[in-house]
Amino acid sequence: MSVLDNYNIDLNDVRSDAVDYRFDLDRQFFDAVESTLLRGGNVAVDLKVKKNGGAYAFVFRINGMVQVPCDRCLDDMDLMIETERELTVKVGEEYSDEGDIIILPCDKAVLNVAWIIYEFIALEVPLTHVHEPGHCNAEMAEMLAAHLVTSPEEGEFSDDGDRGQENDGKPSDSRWDKLREILDNN
Ligand SMILES: [Zn+2]
Repeated sequence: MSVLDNYNIDLNDVRSDAVDYRFDLDRQFFDAVESTLLRGGNVAVDLKVKKNGGAYAFVFRINGMVQVPCDRCLDDMDLMIETERELTVKVGEEYSDEGDIIILPCDKAVLNVAWIIYEFIALEVPLTHVHEPGHCNAEMAEMLAAHLVTSPEEGEFSDDGDRGQENDGKPSDSRWDKLREILDNN
């Protein structure tokens, strides 16, 4: 039995108006879904399944911390996740998944929510995610700094304005002119 079998919701078990499920995601979960984006974490998921006529509302409340690779140094960094998502599940002829409406075949009305939860969390990860300034892997940050010296558009590591003027062929930096005056006068 896989870890992810624990995430099976059998609609036949939802006999009352609402049933609550609780999942605690840990490294085992993230290993089992073979995630490259989410490398681990501790996330609590409260799932309420509400029966509403022929449909079921699945309401996920997701809260916790995940580890994702930093865009800059590739070390793991912590990211807070807090979100609430809902989807509708119905029973029908055959399986179909239209994003927020899932149809399950009536002979096998079981939904595994592991991948659904994973996707809800992944959607919360911002497009760019980097450590707070100064918190990157020092060795990697050094290597990157050395590399970025040749990329002046990466403002953080390039010099500021004054130097650009020399490229016009005019020695226009007034500080150098002053210095030359002083040297000439001596
Ligand atoms: Zn970093």
